[in-house]
Amino acid sequence: MEQKILVVEDSRPFRRAIECELRQAGFLPVFAETIAEAESVLDQNTDFLCAILDYCLPDGQDGEIIDVCLSVDIKVIVLTALMDEITREKVLAKTVIDYIPKDSPSCISSIIPILNRLAKNSSHKVLLVDDSITARKYTRSLLERQYLNVIEAKDGEHALQIMQHDSDISLVITDYDMPERDGVSLVKELRKQYSLDKLAIIGLSASDEASLTAKFLKAGANDYLTKPFNQEEFYCRLHSTLNILDSERRLYHLANQDYLTQTWNRRYFFEHPTSKNHNSPRCLALIDIDNFKSVNDSYGHHIGDMVLIELATVLKNYFPDALVSRFGGEEFCILYGNSPHIFNQRLEAMKEDIANSELTILTNKIKYTVSAGVVIAESNIHDLLRRADNCLYRAKSLGRNRIVEEELV
Ligand code: GH3
Ligand code: MG
Ligand code: MG
Repeated sequence: MEQKILVVEDSRPFRRAIECELRQAGFLPVFAETIAEAESVLDQNTDFLCAILDYCLPDGQDGEIIDVCLSVDIKVIVLTALMDEITREKVLAKTVIDYIPKDSPSCISSIIPILNRLAKNSSHKVLLVDDSITARKYTRSLLERQYLNVIEAKDGEHALQIMQHDSDISLVITDYDMPERDGVSLVKELRKQYSLDKLAIIGLSASDEASLTAKFLKAGANDYLTKPFNQEEFYCRLHSTLNILDSERRLYHLANQDYLTQTWNRRYFFEHPTSKNHNSPRCLALIDIDNFKSVNDSYGHHIGDMVLIELATVLKNYFPDALVSRFGGEEFCILYGNSPHIFNQRLEAMKEDIANSELTILTNKIKYTVSAGVVIAESNIHDLLRRADNCLYRAKSLGRNRIVEEELV
């Protein structure tokens, strides 16, 4: 759903330009031209991602609109033609997100990356590590203003304990000097466990030791800031760090996941440690849709695509604890490291479930079946796949809609 942005601006050309940029970026602008109008909009609804406010309005020339929005907990970005330092300080002293000079038409496009960032921030959880309660409180308020979820740790050791139990943390912001494990040592330890697409780290310190920046960066931090920091610099670095993290994650998914079904792809499958380790018995099944070509022929390729998406969901639901990947076309592979008995039971139940279900896709009622070749053995992955493929071939020649396990061949 489009997120709403309140725009309070009395200049018509500016409103037009903002409307165009916001809509193009997928946001829904709601306009007011005066403080009075904004108040009546806010009486009806305060569900805005944020507000873009003109500092100078006909019924309030001195930023009065900012307090109106802040008083109902709306995040604020200020647009102003006034560039003097006094106004700037005055605006930044309020709890606004940013302050953007109206010096050229392009200033509006500089708002879009900020909005995109805000819209994504609630999916990030930040661990804030500092032994000073006051410092934590201040940084926390800056982070929460940006919709980030924040948890706190009082030193490096405490942070490591929290990280062990909370896999959702995507950013760590850490002070340097702390009683139990300093920030640089914490970063070194974290980087052993979390790659750049899993965790971003920003170092902080009040120390004027020049080599500290290099120490943090060499230990694996993405960025570093000296305390006390300026709010604007903090937000710029925070945004660029989170943008890089999001890009790293996207890249990881593009490289390792199948675009259509969002299961893992072949590449991920072969590089996964479970595939490489062949010292314990493993259960492997190759699953292939029966007569899939006729699904495409009867209903069209796009319906065939939806059947594949549906099958991937069924596979993931039956095997949430296994490595499920799309090998290509209508063939999937399940690699499972636990009990063969459970594996076979689930596989059989899944095959029956699929055969007895009728999918409704658009107006079509579709029934399909799958066949599977299964091998449970201790061997390398290529050997297991070859043996499972022989079983699958046999399942097809025996009439399809069946599972053939190697021992039974
Ligand atoms: P069998 O029971 O022997 O497996 O018969 P089949 O028709 O399923 O197998 P065949 O290998 O002859 O055909 C596979 C079909 O799968 C042909 C191909 O167009 C279709 N296919 C492969 N990838 C995709 C895809 O991503 N989307 C759609 N819609 N179809 C695909
Ligand atoms: Mg097939
Ligand atoms: Mg096939």
